[in-house]
Amino acid sequence: MSIEINKLEELFRQHGYSDYKWIDPKNIVVSQWVRMKCQFGCDEYGQTATCPPNVPSIPECEVFFRDYFLASVFHFSMQVEKPEDRHDWTKELNLKLLELEREVFISGYRKAFLLFLDSCGLCADCTGVKETCKQPFLARPSPEGMGVDVFATVRPLGFPIEVLADYTKTMNRYAFLMID
Ligand code: SF4
Repeated sequence: MSIEINKLEELFRQHGYSDYKWIDPKNIVVSQWVRMKCQFGCDEYGQTATCPPNVPSIPECEVFFRDYFLASVFHFSMQVEKPEDRHDWTKELNLKLLELEREVFISGYRKAFLLFLDSCGLCADCTGVKETCKQPFLARPSPEGMGVDVFATVRPLGFPIEVLADYTKTMNRYAFLMID
C-alpha cells in the first residue's frame, strides 16, 4: 500500500507527538558491535525476554529493517539520578507508543512494529525467557536489542545523542516505529 505521510503525521499529532523524524529504513545502521555490547557489559543480557539472546541474529535484524518502506524515530529526553531510575519513565512512554503502533496498524499498515526506547520493563519481574513472557502481546525489543547503532542512525537526522559521562547530563533516547 502507499504510505500517506500526512495522515500518519495527523495521527502522531493526535497522540501528542511532535519530536520525531522520518527515516528510510535503509539508513538504519545495524552493527555487530552493538550486539557485543549487549553480550558483554550489559546486565540485562539474558535477563529480559526481549533482549539478546532472545532476539534475531544481526543478519536477521538487517533483513527485518530492509523489509520496511518507512520508519519514524521518536525522541525523548530526561535527566535521572541513577540509571535504573529511567525505567518508570520509559515504561510509561513505551505503553503510550504501543497505543500509537496499534492505531497505525489498524489504519492499514499491517507491518507496523514498534521498537521500545528502552529494554522492555513492562513487568516488575521479567521472566527473562521469551516463551514465558507475561505480556507477549505488548513486549517489544529496543533498537539496540535489534542491533541498531542508534548514535550513527539518529545523528544524521539532527537529533542529539552523546555518551553520558555521568547522570547530571540529559539522557536522549529513541523509539522506532517501523511502518509499511
Ligand atoms: S512483558 Fe514482562 S515478561 Fe515480557 S519481556 Fe517485558 S518485562 Fe519481560
